Amino acid sequence: MNHYSGSIPNTLNHGREWLQHAVCKADPDAMHPGNDESGIAYAKRIWAACPVRMVCLQDALRTGDNDHGIRGALKPSERRAVAQRLNPDQYTNADAVTDAVQAVLHPATAERTLRDLWEERAYELPGGHLGWRGDAGALSFQGRAYTPKRIAFLLHRGYDPVGIVRRTCPVVECVHPLHVADNRERWQQQQTEPGKPEQVAAQGGRKLAECGTTSAYQRHVRNKEFIDDACRAANAAAQARYARTGSTKAVG
Ligand code: SF4
Ligand SMILES: [Zn+2]
Ligand SMILES: [Zn+2]
Repeated sequence: MNHYSGSIPNTLNHGREWLQHAVCKADPDAMHPGNDESGIAYAKRIWAACPVRMVCLQDALRTGDNDHGIRGALKPSERRAVAQRLNPDQYTNADAVTDAVQAVLHPATAERTLRDLWEERAYELPGGHLGWRGDAGALSFQGRAYTPKRIAFLLHRGYDPVGIVRRTCPVVECVHPLHVADNRERWQQQQTEPGKPEQVAAQGGRKLAECGTTSAYQRHVRNKEFIDDACRAANAAAQARYARTGSTKAVG
């Protein structure tokens, strides 16, 4: 049990230098509004300007200071809810704490998926391309940074890209998932481009099978690569042949 003394947060047992930056130093009583709604709103406004609010909230979680006063913009009941969502070893992880706060204060937002975000923001452009409404730069979603192209890749491929996701079509604002590629796909693309002797040599003299063949399909599966439509179709056709004839070979 940790009682407020009517002063700034009681953190005697912990490093205190962050308290020098506490906004509530100027108005300690404001952080203890009791159940007064306008007082709570005021405390939350002060918090919004407080540069150490995360440290302060983490300190409150760590010390179990969840019975009195506003800390890190949260009422005691909200801090208890945040604490319940976390393992004690996550109290020092600002991203985990941010996610838990988000889930407690805005449950609807927290349940939003990347797919929802995609559906809100992506729109059709002429010529089969897709644009992105609003700022096309990096955006933060549930504590993680994404670019629209990264979201496109992730939702379509179903796994994290390797390195940077770049556009492969000529339309500058395009985020179409089939018009973007990560480092691995770009590398793969280079390998299958004909007329690059040094790369053929690097493959041990063997040229990689082109997309749209069952060998290419199998290579994608082996290397856990993105499987394009042409290769999917080649594999489906081979499976169908096998079902019919007992052989996957196109001839014979
Ligand atoms: S978050 Fe609130 S209680 Fe904590 S230091 Fe900042 S103003 Fe004070
Ligand atoms: Zn495009
Ligand atoms: Zn392929």
